[in-house]
Amino acid sequence: MRNLLRTAACSALVLASAVSAQEPQTVSWEILADLTTEIGPRLPGSPREAAARDWAVVRLKALGLANVRSEAFTIPGWVRGVEVAQLTAPYPHKLHITALGNSAPTPAAGISGELIYFQSLAALQAAPDSAVKGKIAFIDHAMKANQDGSGYGPSGQARRQGPSVASAKGAVAVVIRSIGTDHNRDPHTGVTNFDRGAAAIPAGAVSAPDADLIARVAAKGKPMTVALTLTGRPQAGLPSGNVVAEVPGRDPTLPAILIGCHLDSWDLGTGAIDDASGCAIITDAALRLKAQGQPLRTVRLLWAGSEELGGFGGDAFAAAHANVPHALAMESDFGADRVWRVGFRLSEANKPLADKVAAALAPLGIVRGANRANGGTDVEPMIERQKLSVIDLDQDGSRYFDLHHTPDDTLDKVDPVQLEQNVQAWLAVLGIVANEAGPISPN
Ligand SMILES: [Zn+2]
Repeated sequence: MRNLLRTAACSALVLASAVSAQEPQTVSWEILADLTTEIGPRLPGSPREAAARDWAVVRLKALGLANVRSEAFTIPGWVRGVEVAQLTAPYPHKLHITALGNSAPTPAAGISGELIYFQSLAALQAAPDSAVKGKIAFIDHAMKANQDGSGYGPSGQARRQGPSVASAKGAVAVVIRSIGTDHNRDPHTGVTNFDRGAAAIPAGAVSAPDADLIARVAAKGKPMTVALTLTGRPQAGLPSGNVVAEVPGRDPTLPAILIGCHLDSWDLGTGAIDDASGCAIITDAALRLKAQGQPLRTVRLLWAGSEELGGFGGDAFAAAHANVPHALAMESDFGADRVWRVGFRLSEANKPLADKVAAALAPLGIVRGANRANGGTDVEPMIERQKLSVIDLDQDGSRYFDLHHTPDDTLDKVDPVQLEQNVQAWLAVLGIVANEAGPISPN
């Protein structure tokens, strides 16, 4: 339908048409381009996330999906504020900083204090409270890019746990090296959580070059001071929601196939790779499956809300649909670069099914991984609740953490050729599992 609009408006939008004429004419690209253009950043609980739900309902209905609806829930949200930081001594430098989700606010005039350097989260954990109390803690780490993105688990702890650890030791604020693998001046946001007993304190991330600077100054052994203004703050009871849609199966008594992505995004970029791409991929694949003829099993699409602040959409979906049987779950939430590996969580009895899927994916250059697929944040609560089988289509994460949660997460970073490979991989899997008549079981 965008093409019809484009035709009607073409004489008035010569330049726009010239640009968009080069765009791929696939549903996946159109979802991705239109969601990031017409909505843009979709912070959990924000008016733009709500606008994205409305947009998604209209678009998914127009594309021919069935039972399209928005399912509301509320979240303990967080709203962004002013974010400014300066190294004030021993050398004055502006620092490129962003607040972490759930950061407590500084006063509007900011705070100043001694910045104390820790090479890692472990170093902070090992430090006596007296070394941290009343200071602003800086946490470094050494995340390196790799294909499977596995560095995010350990390095990401500096963001997920670091602020809570610093607070428990009496820090007045915390700054971390961005959880990322780039060397741009863009800081990476992301959620942190304060444990029970650790008061929320202001928490921010500086860009990699700024972290390098702090590390060099720290190595000189001179005391550092920093001025910090981060006025983003938690806000309870914000409205959020999931968008759910279906390709109905021929046999509604068979447990459904659940496929997930998340509609919300961090607000620094336009959420193109995280995770408009995932929603674009699963939806295009579901529609191509439908175009091949009605599948045996229902395919249920979950465009989850508020993933970034704590997976609230996945929890809400699992609670709301606890009694709707599913057989197998899949999720796309790792950008749009090519799928290189398939992983399974399938029983020994389902080995022929896994073999069939792996064989269908081999022509796309996809290798077979271990039998320990885990799905992802949006489908995990349902996987746990209903003990579902899982298939993971692992994407190349080599550059994902250059862009993740930064202002650079924009449409131009998506390679249409790799996006299309994702859709074809998803279609190959759905074509098999959604037409499987026998039981599908994880063990
Ligand atoms: Zn994501």
